[in-house]
Amino acid sequence: MSLVRIEAVAKEYLLGEQKVTALHDITLSIEEGVFLAIAGPSGSGKTTLLNIIGCIDTPTRGRVFIDDREVTGLSSDALADLRARTIGFIFQTFNLFPVLNVAENVEYPLLQLPEVDRIERRERVRRYVALVGLEKYAHHVPNQLSGGQRQRVAIARALAINPRIVLADEPTANLDSRTGQEILNLMKEINRRYATTFIFSTHDRRVMAMADRLVRIEDGHLAKLAVKVDDRWQQVRTGRNSHENRET
Ligand code: ADP
Ligand code: MG
Repeated sequence: MSLVRIEAVAKEYLLGEQKVTALHDITLSIEEGVFLAIAGPSGSGKTTLLNIIGCIDTPTRGRVFIDDREVTGLSSDALADLRARTIGFIFQTFNLFPVLNVAENVEYPLLQLPEVDRIERRERVRRYVALVGLEKYAHHVPNQLSGGQRQRVAIARALAINPRIVLADEPTANLDSRTGQEILNLMKEINRRYATTFIFSTHDRRVMAMADRLVRIEDGHLAKLAVKVDDRWQQVRTGRNSHENRET
């Protein structure tokens, strides 16, 4: 069973009178536990695809399934609830609350989950702040932290809900290359240790190299799908019959 399944998804935006097609007929399935890179130049449709997988945006055509449940057509309340319990988000610009300290930023998404009580919240905050190595900074606010530390907070916040999927839109784009590498190493380590599924976009080759699944998008088309086997990329055939070529 795949964790995410996208069937013939297209996304069009209207820019004044002009129709912009951000995604054309994308069919894709993503298994649980992968470390998947969505690669492609700027403007190719990476953010649009991530937003559709993350139920932040809805496709113009096609269907989206998370955990075999169709999400296309759900109400915005139902989508918000699904996101709050299922998907952790990491952004290029960190998107932390500037007035909240590290612990409060990590706690924030848990306040939307009534089944997580105060004791459990405190425990999760402690666990995830420690996991990203920021115990000593729990009471610092974002502007007292470096970019790399801020992205660590964002990772802890994404993980706090125990998500099925972590989505990261160019998570290293605002970091110097060494810090970016550290952030990717941390994400990879969490993926290995806890089998958390990560889907991240990038246009950086070194970041792509860390992945075990690669989706390349060009001009809104799925240009390439590859799987890493024994440290080597193997291309999976794409196109209309891509569903026949899913690796088992
Ligand atoms: P990437 O993340 O790969 O840079 P995007 O998904 O942001 O690409 O954008 C894909 C295409 O869709 C681009 O041509 C972009 O200009 C267009 N686009 C994205 N969002 C909107 C929007 N809200 N309104 C109009 N056009 C958009
Ligand atoms: Mg983008």
